[in-house]
Amino acid sequence: MSEAVKRTLPSWYVASFADGQTHLADPAPAGLVAPRCDRTPFRPIAALTGIPLDPAQICSSCLSAGVGQFREA
Ligand SMILES: [Zn+2]
Repeated sequence: MSEAVKRTLPSWYVASFADGQTHLADPAPAGLVAPRCDRTPFRPIAALTGIPLDPAQICSSCLSAGVGQFREA
């Protein structure tokens, strides 16, 4: 993994490319991430450095949780 793992702020992680399956999550042991929503920890297939480009893929619960933490650059 890259230095992005060391970020203190949570990042967006892709659980799958299905709609609503990109979650705002904190890095967790064993290569898993712990999403802010009720989903169980998962092993992401990708970690994003910014806000997901496709709004349809964002988990609505995680979006609500993270809306205060991400502002337009
Ligand atoms: Zn979520």
